[in-house]
Amino acid sequence: MRLSEFELIRKYFNTANLAFEKNEVLLGIGDDAALLNLTKEQELAISTDVLVESVHFPAGAEPAKIASRALAVNLSDLAAMGAKPLCFTLGLVLADANESWINSFSKGLAKTARQFNIALVGGDVSKGPTTIAIQVQGLTRPGKALRRDGARLGDQVYVTGDLGDGAIALASLGIPTHLGDTFLFNENQPSSACSQYLEKAYYEPEPRIEFARLCAEFINSAIDVSDGLLGDLGHICKSSGMGARINIEDIPFSDSARCCVSSENLLRAALYGGDDYELCVTVAKDKREQFLLKARESRTKITCIGEIVEGNTISFLNTAGAEIPLEQSAYEHF
Ligand code: ADP
Ligand code: MG
Repeated sequence: MRLSEFELIRKYFNTANLAFEKNEVLLGIGDDAALLNLTKEQELAISTDVLVESVHFPAGAEPAKIASRALAVNLSDLAAMGAKPLCFTLGLVLADANESWINSFSKGLAKTARQFNIALVGGDVSKGPTTIAIQVQGLTRPGKALRRDGARLGDQVYVTGDLGDGAIALASLGIPTHLGDTFLFNENQPSSACSQYLEKAYYEPEPRIEFARLCAEFINSAIDVSDGLLGDLGHICKSSGMGARINIEDIPFSDSARCCVSSENLLRAALYGGDDYELCVTVAKDKREQFLLKARESRTKITCIGEIVEGNTISFLNTAGAEIPLEQSAYEHF
């Protein structure tokens, strides 16, 4: 039988002979980043993400944009831990050493590296199908990292920015999504204004580093939404031993997303799509005001979409309070 992505990791990598205990490893496989014990004042957060041509970006895409995106999606995992970016390594596999391609790639990478103050400290270059593997490292204060397992009964569930843009943009770039043939645009193709907006959302996702660091003390649990809200909020619920109730009318969408696809497909993009790189966080009700104040300070759009409840399932409710049936399970790479 075919293994799912998470079964594969659990069966072959999260094993006693590989992911064994070390004094310095505070948190291993299972969160947005691992946490290592560095000094009395600092913990190290480490995370890696791989981008493959024609899967995560179209062949022929502008190299500067691919580079920015590759670093940004890695930074998003540091944001999900509330970590401050420190340094990164770059594993680069290229079909050929085209200097103008590499020059543009390097410039895009530098722009994002400077913006988030994360320095390149090593890597590897090899020949093969174009692939970018980045590992990022960040710092957190001991015991203060945000994790998936801290959601508590009655917490409010918030998301940053808008959901669904990632999957809709991927489709508009001509990359097949896993949402299937019924994931269609209202018109044949989105208008040029919508395309521009979506392309920017896709290539320049905003890692919510500042938001997470400013709001960390009021957040009980966090994850970045890379595989769709259903799956990622599912990880929070599973690791926290909780369920969630989400009001679908409250899920935030961009005007461009609304303009491009039907309301049904909007919801599918948010729930099962992925590539949004927004944060989903849970906050105790009595911390709400302080949390919102800090979120405003970070100039981040933030929306309350539901709450943490008892149980182990996520229910999505319409305005009438009726539960909508889920048509598919969360996105997995296999
Ligand atoms: P994210 O979406 O935050 O990048 P993933 O869903 O890719 O996280 O991975 C889930 C967890 O499994 C993470 O903690 C990640 O580090 C771990 N993981 C993924 N692939 C592997 C692998 N090949 N070996 C070990 N751990 C892995
Ligand atoms: Mg993540």
